[in-house]
Amino acid sequence: MMNEKDTFYITTALFYSNSYLHVGHAHEIVAADAMARYKRLRGFDVKFLTGMDEHGQKIEQAAQAAGRTPQEHVDYVAESVRELMRNLGADYDIFWRTTDPAHIAAVRKIFNRLYEQGDIYKGAYRGLYCTPCETFYTPRQLAAGRCPVCEREVCEIDEEAYFFKIGKYGQRLIEHIEQNPEFIMPKSRANEMLNNFLRPGLEDLCVSRTSFKWGVPVDFDPGHVVYVWVDALSNYAIGLGFMSDDDTLYKKYWPADVHIVGKDIVRFHTIIWPAILMALGQPLPKQVFGHGWVNIDGKKIGKSLGNAVDPNNPVATYGADAIRYFLLKEIVFGQDGNFSIEALVNRINSDLANDLGNLLSRTVGMVDKYFGGELPAEQAATDFDEDLRAVAARVAKSSEEHYDRMEFDQALAEIWTLIRRANKYIDQVEPWKLVKEEGKRDALAGSLYNLVEVLRIAAILIEPIMPGIPARIYEQLNIQGGEWSKAHNFGLAPKEIKVTKGNALFPRIDNK
Ligand SMILES: [Zn+2]
Repeated sequence: MMNEKDTFYITTALFYSNSYLHVGHAHEIVAADAMARYKRLRGFDVKFLTGMDEHGQKIEQAAQAAGRTPQEHVDYVAESVRELMRNLGADYDIFWRTTDPAHIAAVRKIFNRLYEQGDIYKGAYRGLYCTPCETFYTPRQLAAGRCPVCEREVCEIDEEAYFFKIGKYGQRLIEHIEQNPEFIMPKSRANEMLNNFLRPGLEDLCVSRTSFKWGVPVDFDPGHVVYVWVDALSNYAIGLGFMSDDDTLYKKYWPADVHIVGKDIVRFHTIIWPAILMALGQPLPKQVFGHGWVNIDGKKIGKSLGNAVDPNNPVATYGADAIRYFLLKEIVFGQDGNFSIEALVNRINSDLANDLGNLLSRTVGMVDKYFGGELPAEQAATDFDEDLRAVAARVAKSSEEHYDRMEFDQALAEIWTLIRRANKYIDQVEPWKLVKEEGKRDALAGSLYNLVEVLRIAAILIEPIMPGIPARIYEQLNIQGGEWSKAHNFGLAPKEIKVTKGNALFPRIDNK
């Protein structure tokens, strides 16, 4: 029997149907997409799931305010998210929506099973509730009497509700987190979960609501709708067919290799979701990666601050590849970072136009000028080849290690040491002098071939982050791309390179 390919299952968090899209969403999308593309290049059998969290009181209210039915409203928002994904070049496999009838059916089954086995019971909820955040709080969780998340006023609530006995799984969760240091990334967030939530003990979790209708009705008690925890979090499994008639994908791809989520929902993904999975007897995701916030011009993004740049706009102006590069180079994945048009333009001009774009145009230009566009097979070495090749070999390996750990900024930094090394190689070799020297024609051809090879290797290495660029490089050099492993071999392109002059990869942008 043939070996089946290793699988890799990656998800973003679901996009909440009531939030406006901002650069922070773009950051999460491009990170997940870059990782999915990287694994595909490595030869993994990848599933990349993203989608929409479409139920809840806030959405019901937003739909009403917009003069739409809730379904019309979530359809409209889902289309805008798909549009952003398209514009960013996100190549997802599954776009899952919690209003999908298949989702609703599976959520009801999960809720029933947890109820039947005694993990969910009916009780009464008395306490404090933040409507916009749809979250219950104990008095000590409040910040100056207000919601600790959105700082709005909370209201007192007294209603019948179903509760999940999450505390049953607290000790197992603690052990799991302690024994699996890669389960919560960045690692600093693990202590926060252990010390702030798990070790003090988990209170039973309210998993139904009666205060609104827009949700999945509880099968056996239709006045209740299933609350977000069971409804939305379970999408990661249901999206693969868990609890459906056909769970082939679930059996093949679960558990998830990584859930990529914002740092504010790490808690839900590392405590509530794993506890639900434990109750259902299912394996836990291998990793939950909490990314940071993207600030705009140094300020937190806020609807009221009016600084929420629609990410579609810079994509339309500067292109998806430049935006993807910027978001993953400028912002350390896992930490907060900053977005500004000024910094973006600087990156485009220096890293993309000057370093990468120039390397290609210089290489193509010299093959054209010195050899009429076609390198001869007769090639010789120069004194500077060995170091260039050594840097290429090192960078292919180190960038791979950084991709594996989702250290995209460091992967790019490594790749750019190779690109800059190649530009320096041109200055060392001085092809404009070689062309005038007797008997140096072979060395001149060999040096230009080495530049082609650096471009070929760099194109493979940047493909996960800038998927639109490699084909344009290959086209001008008339060479083939290929899978990741080909970045580890220097000298794979045929010697007789026939170039075709093309447009600049990244035209310089006037700073004014
Ligand atoms: Zn709130």
